[in-house]
Amino acid sequence: MKSLATFCALAISFSTVSASGELLCRRSPIEVSIVSDNESIQEAACNAVHEALATLEGCGLSQSEPIAIEIGAGPLLDHQNCLGVYHCESNQVYVLEPNVMSKLLGDQSPLIAIPIESLFSSIIAHELAHALLFQMRNGAGETIAEDEYVAYAMQYLSLTAPERESLLRAMPGQESYVTRDMLNDFFLTMSPITFGSWAWRHFEKQEDGCGFISGIVSGEIDFTLDAASRCLNPPECTINR
Ligand SMILES: [Zn+2]
Repeated sequence: MKSLATFCALAISFSTVSASGELLCRRSPIEVSIVSDNESIQEAACNAVHEALATLEGCGLSQSEPIAIEIGAGPLLDHQNCLGVYHCESNQVYVLEPNVMSKLLGDQSPLIAIPIESLFSSIIAHELAHALLFQMRNGAGETIAEDEYVAYAMQYLSLTAPERESLLRAMPGQESYVTRDMLNDFFLTMSPITFGSWAWRHFEKQEDGCGFISGIVSGEIDFTLDAASRCLNPPECTINR
């Protein structure tokens, strides 16, 4: 199990705290800065950033513009269940402090199946995936579902295998086989966390999951509802006589 203490020890070697209290977590090739009034949370977030960027870059997602991360007590977007958010217009990420996340989730959420430090780091990976995806495409995708697919796949990938298994076991509505048509904006709105687990199940079943994500980045793959549009305008039928 990862601990905050481990995060801090690892983070010290590559971070610099400026006079303003902002932590310059990554200096090159492109800056990532972190603002928090809690030094140990700031260091934990910095370590999570380094681990997340290594995961994202290993899957073909790269950073091209500076990103500022603020860790605070929220609420975010006036939405009581929001753990993190990426603002594309300003390249800013906001993530709730781990203890605030814990209180918000209570004792019923499936997300508490993993340690809060791991969830905190995985939310940073999720939001950074949004940021890098937006930067690479210079805009949002055709559907919210495809952006969230990338963010959730990278969030799950950032976890250890045992953490991932614990989380998946706790998730409602698990399907053994997830098709791309199941991963749509409608279902995302109905149940974001189940959508997230389905995104991972679909990603891990791909022969080349990172290649699938590259297809989303390039626009070759989009998540428009192919099956639904075929239903609205049936192109053919089978005549059997
Ligand atoms: Zn997201």
